[in-house]
Amino acid sequence: MSVESELESRSEGKCEMCGDTNGLKVYDIPPIEIRTANKAVFACNTCWEQMDNPDDNDENHWRCLNDSMWSETDAIKVMAWRMLTRLNNSWTQNLLDMMYLEDDILKWAKASGEGVEGMIIIHKDSNGVILNQGDSIVLIKDLDVKGAGFTAKRGTPVRNINLVNDNPEHIEGKVNGQRIVILTQFVKKS
Ligand SMILES: [Zn+2]
Repeated sequence: MSVESELESRSEGKCEMCGDTNGLKVYDIPPIEIRTANKAVFACNTCWEQMDNPDDNDENHWRCLNDSMWSETDAIKVMAWRMLTRLNNSWTQNLLDMMYLEDDILKWAKASGEGVEGMIIIHKDSNGVILNQGDSIVLIKDLDVKGAGFTAKRGTPVRNINLVNDNPEHIEGKVNGQRIVILTQFVKKS
């Protein structure tokens, strides 16, 4: 039996993520080694495109994960986990907290190689604006720089910031010629 027909029967002719019945096709879950139904979901065009493109996410569409995350099928659970992680906001976080994946399934979910891990950590400035590597910011408070013996004044611009990978509240930037760690709550994106 082909992967398509296997998925067609497993899905009962519905998108396994949102339940839509139109334009269904096989979505192979990356990283793809061998094409098998166990490592794929049957998905409508909308789900397919958004799963395939991390930059294109219609949050409201993914309310459907409320249901599909409870699937018994590992492949569906993995994609639900990845999309919830990717969307990364308060309601998806609530669902993720409720979700339980066996260790090996969680490992698979994290093995996407498309930066899902990195997306869990998001740096935001004092206004909640997302900070990216290389952004410019302005200090909104006088900061005593420990060990360096100077105060970084409020209003000081810092260019080309570096995001600290394992801490969403820390960025690095050069002030007075020195690379220092700055708390995101004291900066504003410029
Ligand atoms: Zn769908």
